Amino acid sequence: MKSYKLQNIVEIVSGQLIGDGQTPIEQIFFDSRLIVHPINGIFFALSGNQKDGHTYIADAYHKGIRTFVVQHPIQQYKDINQIIVDNPLQALQNWARIHRQQFNIPVIGITGSNGKTIVKEWLNQLLWKNFNISRSPKSYNSQFGTAISILQLNQENDLGIFEAGISMPNEMEKLEEIIQPTIGVLTKIGNAHLENFKDEEQLIREKLKLFTNVDKLVYNIENEQLHQIISDDDHLSKIDKITYGYTDSALVQIKEIIQEETNTKISILHNQEIFTFSIPFQDDASIKNSLICLTTLIGLNIDYKQYKSNFSALLPIEMRLEIKEAINNSIIINDSFNSDLNSLKIGLNVLNQQKKARKTLVLTDILQSNLSDQELYQQTADLVNPYHFTEIVLIGDKISNYKDLFQSYVRSYKSTDEFLEQFKTQNVYDEAILLKGARPFQLEKIAEELETRSHDTVLEINLQNLIENIKTYRSLLKPTTKIMCMVKANSYGVGSFEVANVLENNGVDYLGVAIADEGKELRKAGISVPIIVMNPEQSSYSTVIEYQLEPEIYSFRVLDLFVKKLKEKQISRPYPIHIKLETGMNRLGFHESEYDHLIETLKQTPQVYVQSIFTHLATADMQDEKEYAQYQFNRFDNGYKILSEALDVKPIKHCLNSPGIVAYNDHQYDMVRLGIGMYGYSEYSDFMNKKLKPVVQFKTIISQISELKVGETVSYGRRFKAERNSRIATLPVGYADGIRRSLGYGKGKVGVNGKLAPITGTICMDMLMIDVTDINCKEGDEVIIFGSYPTLADYTKDLDTIPYEVLTSIALRVNRVYYKE
Ligand SMILES: *Cc1c(COP(=O)(O)O)cnc(C)c1O
Repeated sequence: MKSYKLQNIVEIVSGQLIGDGQTPIEQIFFDSRLIVHPINGIFFALSGNQKDGHTYIADAYHKGIRTFVVQHPIQQYKDINQIIVDNPLQALQNWARIHRQQFNIPVIGITGSNGKTIVKEWLNQLLWKNFNISRSPKSYNSQFGTAISILQLNQENDLGIFEAGISMPNEMEKLEEIIQPTIGVLTKIGNAHLENFKDEEQLIREKLKLFTNVDKLVYNIENEQLHQIISDDDHLSKIDKITYGYTDSALVQIKEIIQEETNTKISILHNQEIFTFSIPFQDDASIKNSLICLTTLIGLNIDYKQYKSNFSALLPIEMRLEIKEAINNSIIINDSFNSDLNSLKIGLNVLNQQKKARKTLVLTDILQSNLSDQELYQQTADLVNPYHFTEIVLIGDKISNYKDLFQSYVRSYKSTDEFLEQFKTQNVYDEAILLKGARPFQLEKIAEELETRSHDTVLEINLQNLIENIKTYRSLLKPTTKIMCMVKANSYGVGSFEVANVLENNGVDYLGVAIADEGKELRKAGISVPIIVMNPEQSSYSTVIEYQLEPEIYSFRVLDLFVKKLKEKQISRPYPIHIKLETGMNRLGFHESEYDHLIETLKQTPQVYVQSIFTHLATADMQDEKEYAQYQFNRFDNGYKILSEALDVKPIKHCLNSPGIVAYNDHQYDMVRLGIGMYGYSEYSDFMNKKLKPVVQFKTIISQISELKVGETVSYGRRFKAERNSRIATLPVGYADGIRRSLGYGKGKVGVNGKLAPITGTICMDMLMIDVTDINCKEGDEVIIFGSYPTLADYTKDLDTIPYEVLTSIALRVNRVYYKE
């Protein structure tokens, strides 16, 4: 971004400056975790529904930030500059608004429910050779994301492409003021966030506010409601409307769409001329999005006929940055979807959040740029060097020439194949590896070498949805309520470290594990948030103490043994413990009759202090057991009162698990303990089930399809006999993967191309068979065991169990794959 003097910013945001107004500002931060290179950076303490940004000031300071925009003045540091404003978000937005006014260039503003990012990225792919484009990084389209995007605009740019996303009424006006688009683009309008609006019309009208001041507007004329609203609106009806659709009133009229083997050929009629172009995709969304792009080119007065070859070279936009387990305790992040500096920055950020002893970057020539090579690779090196990679591998003729700009141990190669020829897997260990390269370099070949247990059956974990689900639960809580996330049993079977890492990065207060060894693994992997061990085994107290885990104490026996261990280890500071009260579950905990003795004991035990007091509900997920829950709350309130008064302390008070958060919101106390809800399942509430997003998808592929004649049989014991001519598909997954054998004989169903196929015959150890007679499918097709459809809840129903058991039963040999959108 362009350099600002702090004094200018103070004036723009009408804030009060304490410090040096001459300080140059060249980078903006709002997330202290993303700070690597703090030079000339400014930190905005934004408050969202997550956490108050002021809490991260210390972290930002320690990472080298010395300039802050805050609501509450910072007292603890003297060597800093600060701007004090009423509202840091508004200040950021005002700055962006004023910044935008300095540019008199076409700016495309994109909104809609789906496809914003793809249209933005495709326009960039089509146009970057002829324009110097500034665009939103990634999917930055929120109230602060748009502001940060706009602030990237600089004097060299001659085109801006920015997304705007809203989820509530009255949000778009602000985004319009920031982006000030001159050309409006509306992608598909769906039902996302409809629940926050009166009706669809209100949602559409809100989106249209982005176009208050545009000269031209691109949209699909076949959306009748939208077209009507635009035509009836005094102001919008006067805008130059650039529409596409099948009807002859569309400016760009779709004439013919022909699916070919891997392409789609699209013919349109515009200005009485037929134009045919081709895209390397076949799905409806891609066809629509390519038409939006073509129509937008008309809006820019560009001759789209010159761009025919660019359309056929469009690349898929995979926004998921895949994080995969790799050999020798390593992980890889594979990002070869874009080849530009912006996406490199994002990849570096994701890498930096991985806690591995060693960090490696594999980087190819960068293709999408209009800088000179010297400038491009200088900027690349400036971006990369602050991350202090253990090793950097450069691939490609161009980037290799600039090897000396990179400060780590660098090796360079002409091609990926040349690299692979000398590559030895045993040299890779405990590493986080970022593979960042342009498509033609085929970095996936390296990924294949590095991935562990390549297997057609995988458990996919969508970490982005996990974060969204936590936000959904957080929205039910008071801002001050703490969150403990339960990652016991390998995070309900999906993978402790990866989940814990995301949770830590998203500011959860506590993690809960079942046994000490689980906590030890997390500590060894670098997790530093407080961890409570719910069921510390007697033999593991040393581990608890060595790894600074905090034990649940539920009886005198446990207290006694733990204190003995503390003395033995000569721990001089009081050690935090968590007192569990028995209030009705009759599992673990101190009973009322023991309170007096407990108080006496704790008073005489300076080796420990009570960090929290808690209990657990037996019936949180049962609508007809509210009375019992109330009985437990009463006993818990009473116990907490007696202990805290007698000991004159105020420990964290907590009780609710996931269903409890929804059912007993008024008993959230100081903290809640979130478990199954994170994974998108809510037994208690249909409402929550709709709001939550699926996190886990268990999938495999079809290995083989056989045609059976009437009377032929399938699998051991011939328990399935074809009653008609049937098609039977074999899947490479069986009871050794955690599919319960009782799901055979038609009881269980799996998803194939959106339809349900019954499991036929007996399930084998490593394979099972399904009936696909009525389903259009072929060998190699994907099969969903559970996830999108059937859902985890559907699958659970067939089994007569609970999702907790389903998730924790998936065998370890099933490869877990993690990704973040
Ligand atoms: C597992 C567990 C939770 C989380 O329960 P969910 O139903 O998965 O939300 C909460 N508290 C305790 C003590 C637990 O053991």
